[in-house]
Amino acid sequence: MAEPVVTIAVDGPAASGKGTLARRLADHFGLNHLDTGGLYRAVAVRVLRQGGDPADEASGETAAQNLETQDLEAPNLRAEEVGQAASIVSAHPKVRAALLIYQRDFAATPPGAVLDGRDIGTVVCPEAGAKIYLDASLETRAKRRVKELRLRGVESIESRVLQEMQDRDARDSGRAVAPLKAAEDALTMDTTDLSPDEVFDRALSYIAARLE
Ligand code: C5P
Repeated sequence: MAEPVVTIAVDGPAASGKGTLARRLADHFGLNHLDTGGLYRAVAVRVLRQGGDPADEASGETAAQNLETQDLEAPNLRAEEVGQAASIVSAHPKVRAALLIYQRDFAATPPGAVLDGRDIGTVVCPEAGAKIYLDASLETRAKRRVKELRLRGVESIESRVLQEMQDRDARDSGRAVAPLKAAEDALTMDTTDLSPDEVFDRALSYIAARLE
């Protein structure tokens, strides 16, 4: 008999807490973890490295088709400007199509996976056994991002981070293909006033009930 595969989808905007939650859930359940934002960031890094324009769909598609594991280790993968470029390349349908198969194959590999992103519960894995959508106020998310950057030794101006996040949210939510949104059957959680432990505990109770 085929080994059962468990899929947990975690979606939400930047700094909503989805990466932290997804990693903890993967550890807890012994599942693989895929940060799908990293894939779009890696495509953006490839386009920028080749002097291409993230707004050009053909450059993005070529970069997505030729993505290599080492692209996910680019030193500037987490930089804010790469996040902005990622949100431009990710609006191209051909870029999304090129990354879809890899994400679905990853999810289907036993024992299963926790995938975090923007469209996991709606497009990549609509059949996921559990779907969680996290959000938080823009101000809180900008503060979290500034703190995270500081821990990495990068000083940043909060008002600028907030503005960039707002621009990225608008692009991600407003695009025609696979926009950022909660699946209708997702557990939605506002993490503004919740600690990472509280988010994890609530997610665990929900998943336990779903996967029973
Ligand atoms: O999550 P992260 O900030 O690393 O994602 C970078 C960008 O990649 C997002 O702003 C979004 O435009 C894009 N993305 C996406 N779909 C996903 C994951 C990320 O469009 N599943």
